[in-house]
Amino acid sequence: MTSGHSSDPTDSGRGRVAVVTGAGSGIGLAVAEALAAAGAQVAIVDSNAEAAESASARLTQLGYGSIAVTADVSRPTDVMAMRSAVVAAFGHVHILVNNAGILRRTEIEDLDWDEWDRLMAVNLKAAALCTQAVVPSMALDRWGRIINVSSDAGKSVSTLGGPHYTASKAGLLGLTRHLARTLAPTGILVNAVCPGLVDSPMSTEAVRPAEWNHIVGSLPIGRAARPAEVASLVAFLASDAASYLVGAAIDVNGGSLLA
Ligand code: NAD
Repeated sequence: MTSGHSSDPTDSGRGRVAVVTGAGSGIGLAVAEALAAAGAQVAIVDSNAEAAESASARLTQLGYGSIAVTADVSRPTDVMAMRSAVVAAFGHVHILVNNAGILRRTEIEDLDWDEWDRLMAVNLKAAALCTQAVVPSMALDRWGRIINVSSDAGKSVSTLGGPHYTASKAGLLGLTRHLARTLAPTGILVNAVCPGLVDSPMSTEAVRPAEWNHIVGSLPIGRAARPAEVASLVAFLASDAASYLVGAAIDVNGGSLLA
């Protein structure tokens, strides 16, 4: 496949190549759509092959450049294969959105350590793996954007997930700060977004309707976010307009953490 991309970093969005993990569903899918609409070619990366294929087909139908890559981003071999597939298709990576995540509600009393390890691998280790895989490509142009999708849970305590979920999202903010500090001199800017309750398959599958209404009722804004409302912030962070943001962890939560 030819990419037709330009590596001119002043060519806002257009010609850029974005990798979005967990882009088969929910927030990741909305991020892929927003980046494609901004002119980027987008690699839809998901462990769910069917979801990745259908998301990519939708973007292609809309006239955007896209490929689907089936990968479990917690596995180093899958991540290396993903990087090869993206470079083969588009020649480069400019933007990485570490969005893939899983939610488990188990509290400490019942926690199974395999579940702990799995959740940490997907929600935290995968972001480091994918970053390591794409940094050489970004460093070539001295232009890169990495956006980590953390959560309210990273700054406070998860309302939906267990202690491993909270710890993974707090860890992701620590990873964001560290990578932001070490990669900014190479032209790669790393930031995080912290959504509150988002109306996506993850949250609607985890929460019973009565609980949903209770949580929504406690939010100053009185409703959950649409995935597109998180995606617009991610797209901003991926753009030239966000040229002085380094290590930020930006809330997009309808005021959920306001007392
Ligand atoms: P979702 O379940 O709708 O989508 C997640 C996608 O990630 C799915 O397509 C899934 O197949 C994919 N995925 C899961 N494990 C993977 C793996 N190992 N490798 C590759 N792909 C994998 O969830 P969502 O609500 O869109 O969540 C996206 C991110 O936003 C997650 O990191 C989540 O923790 C975070 N988040 C969600 C909410 C919310 O309320 N939904 C709030 C704050 C943060």
